Amino acid sequence: MIIMYDILQKYFGYTSFYPLQEEIINEALSRRDVFVLMPTGGGKSLCYQLPAMLLDGLTIVISPLIALMKDQVDGLLADGIPATLINSSLTYSEIEARRRSLANNEVRILYIAPERLVMPEFLQFLQGLKIALFAIDESHCISEWGHDFRPEYRQLNMLKERFPGVPIMALTATATAVVQEDIIKQLKIADGKTFKASFNRKNLYYQIRPKENPYQQLLRYLDGKKTDSGIIYCQSRKTVENVAGSLKSEGYRALPYHAGLPSEARSENQERFIRDDVEIIVATIAFGMGIDKPNVRYVVHYDLPKSIEGYYQETGRAGRDGLKSDCILFFSYGDKYKIEHFIKQKEDENEREVAYKQLRELTNYCEGNVCRRKMLLAYFGEVFSEQNCGACDICLEPKELFEGTVAAQKALSCIYRVGERFGVNYVIDVLLGSKNQKVLQNHHDEIKTFGVGKEYSKIQWQTFIRELVQLGYARLEGDEYPILKLGEKSRQVLMQNEKVFLTKPVEKHIIQKVAAGDNYDRVLFDRLRALRKAAADKEGVPPYVIFHDTSLKEMSIRYPGSLADLRKIGGVGEMKLKKYGDAFLREILNYCTQQGIKQKPNTLKYQEAPIKQQKSLTAQVTFDLYKQGLSLQQIAARRGLAPSTIYSHLEKLILEGEAVVLDNLMDSKKQQHIKQVCLEMDTELLTPLKEKLGEDYSYEEIRLVRAQLIMEERND
Ligand code: ADP
Ligand code: ZN
Repeated sequence: MIIMYDILQKYFGYTSFYPLQEEIINEALSRRDVFVLMPTGGGKSLCYQLPAMLLDGLTIVISPLIALMKDQVDGLLADGIPATLINSSLTYSEIEARRRSLANNEVRILYIAPERLVMPEFLQFLQGLKIALFAIDESHCISEWGHDFRPEYRQLNMLKERFPGVPIMALTATATAVVQEDIIKQLKIADGKTFKASFNRKNLYYQIRPKENPYQQLLRYLDGKKTDSGIIYCQSRKTVENVAGSLKSEGYRALPYHAGLPSEARSENQERFIRDDVEIIVATIAFGMGIDKPNVRYVVHYDLPKSIEGYYQETGRAGRDGLKSDCILFFSYGDKYKIEHFIKQKEDENEREVAYKQLRELTNYCEGNVCRRKMLLAYFGEVFSEQNCGACDICLEPKELFEGTVAAQKALSCIYRVGERFGVNYVIDVLLGSKNQKVLQNHHDEIKTFGVGKEYSKIQWQTFIRELVQLGYARLEGDEYPILKLGEKSRQVLMQNEKVFLTKPVEKHIIQKVAAGDNYDRVLFDRLRALRKAAADKEGVPPYVIFHDTSLKEMSIRYPGSLADLRKIGGVGEMKLKKYGDAFLREILNYCTQQGIKQKPNTLKYQEAPIKQQKSLTAQVTFDLYKQGLSLQQIAARRGLAPSTIYSHLEKLILEGEAVVLDNLMDSKKQQHIKQVCLEMDTELLTPLKEKLGEDYSYEEIRLVRAQLIMEERND
């Protein structure tokens, strides 16, 4: 229990668990099988990464995408967790070296693809190791019912026989029940508990806009978002290329991704997106599985997706980090017909029916006047009972009705006068008085309703007509090119003047930017982001491996003024503080000085772990020797470690609250002087302190005294 919180703070830099994480981790620590259902962003990784630090033996993480494994391992290494991967990107001798360090127990977590795991020779090697846990990520890949079935995954069904007694943790974000049952059956983990987190993604804002001129609508949306990361899903490769190319010429950094590109180009574009070299990826649904990028601020569906399940997965890639993000869908009937057209070509009747059903469900979702979140969750069997979700277009922009009898009469009479033989767009052309060839050919420029609808736009008429269909005044016949006909209730409007109420036209089509309203210092955030990017490039890792946007935003709200304050920012663990603390603090400090922002040290509330930190063992050994009166050099020699390591042990001990007396190391006058300078300069940054103190003082000495000062201030 207690140790769990220690590890959470020390390595991951978090102070509390997300829902269900603690329960799941407890199951893992009790060495029981467990099935974890959590939406994207729910915090699945921690469920096996944390136990890996506590369990006796190796945790093996099975993950489908070789290309993304390195980032995951880099992320763990940055937190100070010994992790490695074995896959086909490595040379034979590299693999050998890694196998040796596995055999020597130097690694806590191994990432591996299923096809490698099931190689007979590799299985044999694993059987010689002590394995604590198999964590199977994206476990829905094992099921043929799922949307990402992978034959290699199917072979994992032998794990229980080959490794009896080794617990399995299966994880997925797929919400459908058939797939869930199948996973449990295939992996033979029916005795284990299932944990299902809510699939509500609170930080996502769902919006559906009528699709008029989508590219312009997209540009309007993107305005002012040049530095935000986003995914734009399109239906065809051609649209992907067009949109990506156009955005580029508009000055956005955008790249395409679809199955028609050579695989090197695909991985390169993906990589550049993940590393924040470009902000936008324009893609078909081929893009996205396993992408861990936490700071995707928006997902736009430029075209209609194929199913609610797909839409949920795709939008789910936004806002993994928990910060507000937008999910925008451009809806048009044209797209619907296009998809129907595809469905028609399917040979298999069963497949066709499933596809039609999925499309129907999706159109209901788009046309419905019900909270989007409520409908999405209902689809996955979850009840959302709040009146107003506060983050969807239906809840935020309630529709206002107006008496639209005249508009309805115009539309219905036009449908009648063109002989109930044309589609929606044609009828609108006539209403708007368009002199296109087809209209002229049919002499519909001579009928009474020609040009009577000019007070409304094309898009507005589309909305009206859709509503007239929903209300039963008109109807659509046929699948591919539906014909607009009069509905049963049309007589009452045309002949008896029945009043019709329609949704009031909205003037602005500009999409609200809910996600932009966060209350943080954008200038500082951008500066920290640039610093992060430079460090990431230097190390060859994605920026989020260094710090997540959440951490940078918190810094840009709180302006931490000391390392101790920085440590209290979410996501800043011990390792990261050590590695990046000085650089980030300096940037914040410089900024605050320039802007005249007064930092208040120690104003952040420090959430203590429930119990004092567990002391690290190796530092403790050093401490014992130190207490016996050995000099620093003697300890170093005795332990075969560098003196600088011994210094850092002592620093750590001080920060963990041990009373380390420094008198053996430097005389008290020196200690006094360092303290005085720290306080005078009101800084914890080493470089300026060292400059001021000069040659007679070593970095190590300054660090030790600084650590004592931090503790004194904390205990005030
Ligand atoms: P999933 O795999 O379920 O999509 P991740 O494991 O990638 O989710 O976690 C999503 C995000 O939440 C990551 O940015 C992760 O660092 C963060 N996170 C996970 N657990 C916690 C926690 N207990 N406190 C704060 N942030 C967390
Ligand atoms: Zn809502």
